[in-house]
Amino acid sequence: MGREAPPAWRGDPCAVVAGRVRFKRRTHRVSLWANNMFKKILVANRGEIALRIQRACHELGIKAVMVYSEADRDAKYVKLAEEAVCIGPAPSPLSYLNMPAIISAAEVTDAEAIHPGYGFLSENADFAERVEKSGFQFIGPTPENIRTMGDKVSAKQAMIKAGVPCVPGSDGELPDDPVQIRRIAKAVGYPVIIKAAGGGGGRGMRVVHTEAALVNAVQMTKAEAGAAFGNPAVYMEKFLQNPRHIEIQILADKHRNAVYLGERDCSMQRRHQKVIEEAPAPGIPRRLIDRIGDRCVAACKKIGYRGAGTFEFLYENGEFYFIEMNTRVQVEHPVTEWITGVDIVRTQIMVAAGEKLPFTQRQIQIRGHAIECRINAEDPYKFIPSPGRITKWHAPGGPGVRVDSHVYTNYFVPPNYDSMIGKIIVHGDTREQALARMRTALSETVIEGINTNVPLHRELMVDAKFMDGGTNIHYLEEWLSQRQR
Ligand code: ADP
Repeated sequence: MGREAPPAWRGDPCAVVAGRVRFKRRTHRVSLWANNMFKKILVANRGEIALRIQRACHELGIKAVMVYSEADRDAKYVKLAEEAVCIGPAPSPLSYLNMPAIISAAEVTDAEAIHPGYGFLSENADFAERVEKSGFQFIGPTPENIRTMGDKVSAKQAMIKAGVPCVPGSDGELPDDPVQIRRIAKAVGYPVIIKAAGGGGGRGMRVVHTEAALVNAVQMTKAEAGAAFGNPAVYMEKFLQNPRHIEIQILADKHRNAVYLGERDCSMQRRHQKVIEEAPAPGIPRRLIDRIGDRCVAACKKIGYRGAGTFEFLYENGEFYFIEMNTRVQVEHPVTEWITGVDIVRTQIMVAAGEKLPFTQRQIQIRGHAIECRINAEDPYKFIPSPGRITKWHAPGGPGVRVDSHVYTNYFVPPNYDSMIGKIIVHGDTREQALARMRTALSETVIEGINTNVPLHRELMVDAKFMDGGTNIHYLEEWLSQRQR
């Protein structure tokens, strides 16, 4: 306390350096680490991932500075923080997307590094650049790598060069000329999907089944992409009919070492957004995973990638097709942590500090099966967001059960952000055991005061097709539409 508020939010009523708050923690330096390990990291995010990163910092004996908006004043990780800084009002452009406020918060608290989490500024190359120019370590890849991978067109081009198979489509951005657009679609073959080069979060995509609808669809997607992502460029891919979404987790250090940590199956999606994730992917031969994993590692080495990253693929008829790379930690990272025993967030911090990866590819062993259910504050079948006060929160427990959530009884879910309030992750020796554990965990879960999608997960965990494994990316939507009939 007693510090002057940084210029970015002087005059703002919320502009306080919250200082040492209630639950003061004692942090121990871990002798394991070399002297260049950070002493203090600023966590530029909110929600469950902010708590996850805070925990990783504390385990490493690193102090974590938490930033928060006025709406998140009562979040658990803010109460647990040694230092917490309010960076602005509830709307994210004024707080979690406010670069000067976040960098000023790092300056006044003497943090050495900034962990961006996922979403918000995590894949913003300009932010990574500003962080590093201001003298802080960005816990993630280089701004150049983020920039290349953040543009899906340049990402695909980089992957083709690195020998990673991609979905057939336009070789780059679509031209304006309708004749040329039609020619490209004809060569690719209908149905096609028009995708925004700067898209993300399942937005900025349109499926086209006929030539008649093509040009109009391209124009509409361009206009939406310009408004939503500030980049009107779109490209075309063949729309695969029955693929699964399979992704490969990688970790790389600054010394050109890289490993892959197996795969995740994220095919249970609604509106291109993941609902359930699991690892390993049921029924995909390990040799195919190893082959694509090796390609991802080679691509990382080729581009000088560092930190955590995910190569996303569509998988159909035994073939993988790259769709995009995420240059950050992902929501579903715990399933990989559980089957490999690798702490991904801890390793992100370690490699950002310049450490070498503490394991080789041969030391990565897959053990058992893990499943994650995303818990959202929403109507379970109509998906209308349900913010508000949680009057009762009882999280499940027991062997093989992990709950990553920042909420608690009496917590108010603000209406301003994503509806995800936590994740239940289970592990078992087999997929059957993991399913049984998830059913038990969901049956123990009590969340009152708001609607959540827990009832949906309970139904899905006893669905015969899901229990068989290997459902494709359309399965959940089809299941939902049949349920409503
Ligand atoms: P985002 O960055 O918005 O998540 P992605 O490119 O990762 O976009 O695609 C999200 C989801 O959209 C995929 O998991 C898949 O369900 C669907 N999708 C994307 N491209 C294709 C395609 N070529 N064919 C079929 N489905 C696709």
